[in-house]
Amino acid sequence: MQLRIPGPTPCPPEALQAMSRQMINHRGKEFGQLLQSVTARLRQTFQTKEDVLLLSCAGTGGLEAAIVNTLSPGDDILACSCGVFGDRFADIAEQYGAKVNRLNFEWGTPAKPETIRQALRANTNIKAVLVTHNETSTGVTNDLASISSVVNEFDKLLLVDAVSSLGCIDLPTDDWHCDVVVTASQKGWMVPPGLAMISVNEKAWEACSHARMPRFYLDFAKAKDYLQKGQNPWTPAISICYALDATLDLMLNEGLQNVFARHKRVGQMTRNGIKSLGLSLLPDESCASNTVTAVNASDKLDVPKLVQILREEYDVVIAGGQRKLSGKIFRIGHMGLVNEDDIKVTLQAIEKVLPKVRY
Ligand SMILES: *Cc1c(COP(=O)(O)O)cnc(C)c1O
Repeated sequence: MQLRIPGPTPCPPEALQAMSRQMINHRGKEFGQLLQSVTARLRQTFQTKEDVLLLSCAGTGGLEAAIVNTLSPGDDILACSCGVFGDRFADIAEQYGAKVNRLNFEWGTPAKPETIRQALRANTNIKAVLVTHNETSTGVTNDLASISSVVNEFDKLLLVDAVSSLGCIDLPTDDWHCDVVVTASQKGWMVPPGLAMISVNEKAWEACSHARMPRFYLDFAKAKDYLQKGQNPWTPAISICYALDATLDLMLNEGLQNVFARHKRVGQMTRNGIKSLGLSLLPDESCASNTVTAVNASDKLDVPKLVQILREEYDVVIAGGQRKLSGKIFRIGHMGLVNEDDIKVTLQAIEKVLPKVRY
């Protein structure tokens, strides 16, 4: 089967095999070594010298953790959104009582650094900026390097949703001064859902020490405290840790730069293939994502039918659009375990099905 959705992504045999291992004591020495070793390699992939914490939850739990650990009710924040996941990040902050200033960009377009600069100039009370590195719902990768340098000009806290980019698209966490970066196991990491991985730098720790939003399960301070003992505060998703231990080896053996280059190649190949089928991309190519491709169906294609026939007759699983893009686009995931052959198979299947789903 070709599971070409933007998460969960396929797992390599090494990860599946690792997960068949027997349970161990999560308060014992063996788990301690596993956690320390996974954490050390996560720091390499995050390109950070700061702390990386493992929380057992979905990516959304990681986003919630980023908010509740660094902010207080009533804090002014700037939430940059160009799609479903940007909106979700803002919604979480709002739910916990932040004063959310929403900076919305048209879906299919990227967040514009200059607009963010103007918003930060206009409201000097802003404490933190929320940004999605790779907006999975529209297939857009934001220019995080430029955005982070703007946020840095104003010395604000930068919280980054990198759930569908980290480990696939270059994100030098420290060089770009990203204070909290969130990712999740079932995206580029080639393991099942169950873990959120989060970097927290010194500036974020400083914010944590004053943050008054309620938190218990997702408390960064508890996670750091226990990490020093080689533990999690709660019972962690041990099997996913086994799998991550295996896939981090695969990623680092391939070499981070090579992993990024492979995603760039398959991203480009997907876009070229789609265009040669006479279809168009939702975003401009200058900001098109190398982990997920969003294709316009316009009023010409029956997306649910396309998805169904691909699944039933070709064993290829793709995703439709979300919310207001439902029926308007379809999406092809290409993050984690993916190479040129996978894209070839996917594109060939789409080519065969297209004539059957045109209105
Ligand atoms: C998948 C995704 C999420 C949510 O992750 P869950 O594990 O489903 O909670 C958040 N942000 C982005 C950009 C994503 O792609």
